[in-house]
Amino acid sequence: MKKKILRIGMCLFLLTCLAGCTGGSGEHSSANPFSIKTESSGQIFAMDTYMKIDAYGENADAAIHEALDLIQALDQKWSATNPQSEVALLNEAGQVTASTETEELFQVAYSVYESTDGALDITIYPLVRLWGFPTQDYHVPSKEEINEVLPLINMSGVSLDSSTHTLSVPNQMQIDFGAVAKGYTAEKIIQLFRGQGIESALVTLGGNIQCLGYKKDQSEWRIGIQNPSGDTPLGILSIHDCAVVTSGDYQRYFEENGMKYHHILDPSTGYPADGGITSISILCTDGTKADALSTALFVLGKEAAIQYWQNHSEEFDFVMYTTKQELIITKGIEKKFTSSLPFSVIDP
Ligand code: AMP
Ligand code: MG
Repeated sequence: MKKKILRIGMCLFLLTCLAGCTGGSGEHSSANPFSIKTESSGQIFAMDTYMKIDAYGENADAAIHEALDLIQALDQKWSATNPQSEVALLNEAGQVTASTETEELFQVAYSVYESTDGALDITIYPLVRLWGFPTQDYHVPSKEEINEVLPLINMSGVSLDSSTHTLSVPNQMQIDFGAVAKGYTAEKIIQLFRGQGIESALVTLGGNIQCLGYKKDQSEWRIGIQNPSGDTPLGILSIHDCAVVTSGDYQRYFEENGMKYHHILDPSTGYPADGGITSISILCTDGTKADALSTALFVLGKEAAIQYWQNHSEEFDFVMYTTKQELIITKGIEKKFTSSLPFSVIDP
């Protein structure tokens, strides 16, 4: 049996020229310390991904410090594999006192769960474990194993008592915030920066990118969308004050007996979602929502994702790349998107 473990790093990459970074985990650097305008950057490995933050403006150094602390604090709350995290305690005991952040994240996930008929479902964890993703002990489960676990995937079974802040799940049900945690984290960093007077920032948390304001030369941020089947980007987005979050079948997967199995699972079948999408990048001013929608629309598949957007076209836009190598964007970003590849534009 041939089993190959493959992981590809960041799904979005930057075409902008940014201040230099120091290496290593949780480090930061600053430049131009005597000017009123300062700039600083930091990087860290957390939430199972490489993260980089750049900030420009007064107090940039202090803001970067706080952002790195925030990432670590949120990682400690939500890492399913850290036995002290709120998620692990909930998964172990069926109940936990939720922090404000956990409540907020749960509520965003719940609203997208509802609006997508369960395509996003954070009670996916028993299934994610069955496929071996958390431990990288990958394995294609039998139909019987999948059928045993499927009844546990049901977010409507999770309850949140907002007076006691108690989050509870029924017996054996377990949650995983992997589809939404990075989006929330980026959103909170941007909010933190806004509160500190930072005028311009770029937060890159793996496939989650969120920018604040414009680049320091006042031009728009230029974000390249990774092409899963080539070196040339699928396209470039010119944006400001926006999150761009990508979910893709190439980001994390394994191969067994010549077949590829990726990490975005369809809660209705128990198998990797196969609705004809290779990657979908969501553009939204709210980073948490962008992350929730990237996973949900990937699961919905091409046709249902387009339909979902047509019913919510005021809220977000997307760049979709299908398994048939079609490049599709939504009307709202027609003027922000350039590509050397042919693409079609969906109307609301
Ligand atoms: P993302 O990269 O944001 O699309 O999130 C993918 C991660 O979310 C996976 O690695 C799993 O931990 C988890 N996940 C997979 N499928 C789902 C799903 N249908 N709903 C919620 N979380 C999921
Ligand atoms: Mg997501």
